[in-house]
Amino acid sequence: MRRKTGFVWQEIYMWHDTGTHAGVLPPGVPIQPGTHAENPETKRRFKNLLEISGLYQQLHHIEAYHASEEDILRVHTQDYLNQIKAMSDETGGDAGMLTPFGKGGFEIATLAAGGVMAAVDAVLDGKIDNAYALVRPPGHHAEPDMGKGFCLFSNAAIAAKYAQAKRGIEKIAFVDWDVHHGNGAEKIFWNDPTVLTISIHQDRCFPPDSGDLCDNGEGAGAGYNINIPLPPGSGVDAYEAVYDRVVIPALHKFKPDLIIIPSGFDAGAHDPLGRMMMHSEGYRSLTRKMLAVADEICSGRIVLCHEGGYNDATVPFFGLAVMETLSSIKTETEDPFMALFEGLAGQELQPHQDQLIKEAEKLLNNLPE
Ligand SMILES: [Zn+2]
Repeated sequence: MRRKTGFVWQEIYMWHDTGTHAGVLPPGVPIQPGTHAENPETKRRFKNLLEISGLYQQLHHIEAYHASEEDILRVHTQDYLNQIKAMSDETGGDAGMLTPFGKGGFEIATLAAGGVMAAVDAVLDGKIDNAYALVRPPGHHAEPDMGKGFCLFSNAAIAAKYAQAKRGIEKIAFVDWDVHHGNGAEKIFWNDPTVLTISIHQDRCFPPDSGDLCDNGEGAGAGYNINIPLPPGSGVDAYEAVYDRVVIPALHKFKPDLIIIPSGFDAGAHDPLGRMMMHSEGYRSLTRKMLAVADEICSGRIVLCHEGGYNDATVPFFGLAVMETLSSIKTETEDPFMALFEGLAGQELQPHQDQLIKEAEKLLNNLPE
């Protein structure tokens, strides 16, 4: 079945300026200044590969708009918003922890949040079946009163709150497959039973001491936050098992009206900021699983928004696999990394990974019907 897939891309996203760094470290003695880990390259190459493969031309362009102050304030504090705006009007600065941005960064960040909102609009209006918002800066580490891990505003959470406030959507599920913990959504929806937040991430990778199995939501939101902290080195079979045994059963139980996937590709093999072994066929398989469950429970309504992914060469192929699956259009472009990544030792489910997934399965009992 052909699906209409929307795509959000604005050149200005690539102009978000993380400055001169050495990886994630600010420049200065004793480390030579270089490129910041979060720079335009992986995203631009992802979009370029879509074009070269011929897929981009078959996607439906969605024009992003700026999230309004009202939209931002459904998630963030007024103080934080004012602070970012003031710094952005001057020379930029740091939004909190490891989140540098340049002059005008505020406007780019509101366009990133609004890009995810526009994707949600297009899906809810039925103009398209599903959508990918290739936005920048990313959002899933941003908390109500501080930026974190390269993220200024919590793009996906802002779009979710907007869908509830303005578009009549009741229940939303997040399935965050970025290799780092989706701490922003966890915090924002901690007491909220209308949003199920699921994060599949590398155990204690980033933020520090975040994303534990036992962090399960509180109050009315008890049971509605599910963390699956996989051991470093997990491969495709571990990811598939997590989806089959935890993610999909949780979605069936919760029955969201819309699924949002904060989509980082840093769980891919050879990513500099993660130690997992996903490959493009793995991402294709997870996307297929998500489409199948979305077809069953929410008329196929899925919006993906871009988060991390730091290997310039591999990220475009992971992205292409996801986009081919979302749109059901297979291009002739093959992933040259597949043979290498498929053959990595440990792609099969390992006993210690199985043990962790068994523990995560128990969380399904805490999720109310
Ligand atoms: Zn990440």
